[in-house]
Amino acid sequence: RTDPPPPLTAEHVTVRFAGLTALDDVSFTVAPGTVHALIGPNGAGKSTCFNVLSGLYRPASGSVRLGARDLTRLAPHRIAALGVARTFQNIVTTQGTVADNLMLGRHALTRAGFAASALRLPRAVREQRAHLAEARRIADLTGLGGLFDTPVALLSYGDRKRVELARALCLEPRVLLLDEPVAGMNAAERARTTEVVRDVRAELGLSVVLVEHDMGLVMRLADEVTVLDFGRRIAHGTPDEVRRDPEVLRAYLGT
Ligand code: ADP
Ligand code: MG
Repeated sequence: RTDPPPPLTAEHVTVRFAGLTALDDVSFTVAPGTVHALIGPNGAGKSTCFNVLSGLYRPASGSVRLGARDLTRLAPHRIAALGVARTFQNIVTTQGTVADNLMLGRHALTRAGFAASALRLPRAVREQRAHLAEARRIADLTGLGGLFDTPVALLSYGDRKRVELARALCLEPRVLLLDEPVAGMNAAERARTTEVVRDVRAELGLSVVLVEHDMGLVMRLADEVTVLDFGRRIAHGTPDEVRRDPEVLRAYLGT
């Protein structure tokens, strides 16, 4: 794909849980092909925001759009099919090989269906071959090429976490939502994953929304940063701008 992804826009999004406003009138736009970081202290509402963007939570008010398309009331699989894919904060795969996991991502796209696959109709066979080729390409791009047929249970934590990223990429997203992609990784794994995110953005021309606690990574990767605190947007700008923002310093240092 060579056309730029449509902008992803959250407008005046409010999410309430019993007695708690997890997101309070939050707005931001992820510009086409950029890395937009969503940062803030624990409990700020970052994961909730991803859950709204990916259709798992419905906001009490406000809207989410991908280009002209309103995503606000669509089911998660519809949003994924429209090109918004995500990873989860605390989920790592333990089943199957790397290839199996990437093919699971690809099968979400299959039109021929399971019945046709089971009967090995020519179209299903062709699609299967194309899926395998694409899964290999994504594995190469994410540094998992040499591990394609390896059971994920045998991989390091960092590699397993990168399988999640690769699986999301197999949905051919235009916008990729990464919830703490380097959490729990050692320094070498973090550096590797940073490179991978940079490469896939450049190679696949997609937009990335990044939730991350590692400020070094945010500063190196992000074009724009939105800062949340207690569900409110307290700052927005380039990494350099938000790093110097007094409100941001207050939120992080608790002064
Ligand atoms: P972050 O990812 O920034 O650490 P979250 O979005 O996970 O923050 O949480 C924001 C707030 O909403 C927290 O106070 C959290 O306890 C609350 N929260 C998140 N999900 C739920 C839920 N499903 N039910 C009730 N409260 C929730
Ligand atoms: Mg979170």
